[in-house]
Amino acid sequence: MAYITLKDINKIYPNGFHAVHNFNLEIEKGEFIVFVGSSGCGKSTTLRMIAGLEDISKGDFLINGQRANEWGPREREVAMVFQSYALYPQMSVYDNLAYGLTLQGVDEDVIEEKVLKTAKILGLTDYLDRLPRALSGGQRQRVAVGRAIIRKVGIFLMDEPLSNLDAKQRVTMRSEITQIHRETGATTIYVTHDQTEAMTMADRIVVMKDGYIQQVGTPYELYFHPANLFVAGFIGEPPMNFIRGKVTGGALHFGETKLDLSKKLGAKLSEYEGKELVFGFRPESIVLGQQKDAYVVSCMVELTEMLGDNTNVYITAGEDKAILKVDPHDTPEIDAPLTFSIPYENVYLFDGHTENVLG
Ligand code: ADP
Repeated sequence: MAYITLKDINKIYPNGFHAVHNFNLEIEKGEFIVFVGSSGCGKSTTLRMIAGLEDISKGDFLINGQRANEWGPREREVAMVFQSYALYPQMSVYDNLAYGLTLQGVDEDVIEEKVLKTAKILGLTDYLDRLPRALSGGQRQRVAVGRAIIRKVGIFLMDEPLSNLDAKQRVTMRSEITQIHRETGATTIYVTHDQTEAMTMADRIVVMKDGYIQQVGTPYELYFHPANLFVAGFIGEPPMNFIRGKVTGGALHFGETKLDLSKKLGAKLSEYEGKELVFGFRPESIVLGQQKDAYVVSCMVELTEMLGDNTNVYITAGEDKAILKVDPHDTPEIDAPLTFSIPYENVYLFDGHTENVLG
């Protein structure tokens, strides 16, 4: 039995806006789940329904197999970390960490033990006497995380907890939160709009768009087996390249290059004649020059960006544009022709209408 079950969960706000549609998910104990998607897709709404901060309009929410729709946050045993740290400014780090337990009437000795243990996990031992204003953004966020993990809760909910931090602090906190999850083993649901955070932290990712789940899967599954065009374009940086067109004579055109789709579709090719398809390939999945068992494409180099570990190459082929990711030592000349190969196995085809992956 799953620890948390969301069955056909819907949220319709009082103004009639339908923010979440038939959300279905089973979460196992100890999993680290990330909800990802662009702003406004319904991630926070779903998280707040799980937290008990927002009514569930329709559907069943179960904890350990028991219907929990009407339970309050305390009964659900959830702790939540928000984007704003919400620390008490006049209290020391120690008191901020201890506050929840003090309210619950926990013994001073027990509180001290827990505060010291939590501070150790989070590297806050040397800062216990400080006030929040004397901490860096990253340290404040750690206190906020500490306040949540110090209580023994079953479900740990985080809503964009790193978005107030600078890029470097985000990377550090990302691995710290993963580490804390490993140590505490707490079931965690984490909301972010950042696909890198999702990919690096999650056991499983839920990709959302306009209130609908697009796909649920491990980072590996989403990257290598995207269910549709949206997921394919959302996961990966730079994003997957798409060449859209109508199939004519069994092929699509990428600039001057004819892409013979029989290589991908085999006997099913005739079904797609005259239909609109999208040909997708990742910037990093190409090989420079001509290769066997690959689509060989001729193009012009428009711009290059040397990033150190790789170079992004912006190319044009007729009306089509794409980005290639190459070894910095192979950075090509700008305004010069270039030939590259896309191995057949690295190509994805999507239905131009439903936008679902084929095959
Ligand atoms: P996300 O967390 O993915 O950015 P939200 O869950 O916050 O998205 O919001 C989803 C959609 O619901 C948005 O279009 C938002 O404007 C709308 N929404 C959020 N709260 C309310 C509310 N109280 N009343 C009406 N619409 C809301």
